[in-house]
Amino acid sequence: MSRTLAQALAWSAEGTELCGKAIAGLDAAGYGAPCGLDGWTRRHLVAHLAANAEAIGRLVSWARTGTEQRMYSSPEQRRADIEAGARRSGPELSAWFERSARELAAAMAALPDRAWRAEVVTAQGRTVPAAEIPWMRSREVMVHAVDLATGVTFADLPAGFRAALRADIVAKRGAGNVPAVSGPDAEVTAYLAGRPYSGVTTADGTLAPSLPPWL
Ligand code: ZN
Repeated sequence: MSRTLAQALAWSAEGTELCGKAIAGLDAAGYGAPCGLDGWTRRHLVAHLAANAEAIGRLVSWARTGTEQRMYSSPEQRRADIEAGARRSGPELSAWFERSARELAAAMAALPDRAWRAEVVTAQGRTVPAAEIPWMRSREVMVHAVDLATGVTFADLPAGFRAALRADIVAKRGAGNVPAVSGPDAEVTAYLAGRPYSGVTTADGTLAPSLPPWL
């Protein structure tokens, strides 16, 4: 994998800023409007982003202390917390997003070198070194900055991040499940992520059929 811890930390900060800007101008109607994810309003997505920062913060705490902490107690609890969070007001959600992101950034900045090598378990049950944590968060804030549907596109994300994301998605989906495609790299990234795309074609020049959702 061609990304470093320092890059992932910078991407996490940059994605957080993109999301912050995207939600800064939202009034009640804007918060109540659908986002790019099926069945969710922007309120659901911001509740998810804030809860994700807290969940990822539990992994940072696990790496630091050695005391096991899971991101979520169960998938049902994760869903219930998003539904409950989505009933908060826009200003409450914005404040929760900012506070949770700030606390996570501070916890990551304070993590000693050796703790980045500790093993933690993701929400999908994968055991990974703590050094993967900033990458997990950068994926969330970067891709969901697009999903917030306020105008951010994959072309607005850093090219290095997009390259790392494509490699990560192809590895997760399994190289055999992803057809060879061509197109502008931002569009290919959207295609691989299961998001709306245009101008992505397969080897015979026809439009690539969409992949199932991811993340
Ligand atoms: Zn997510």
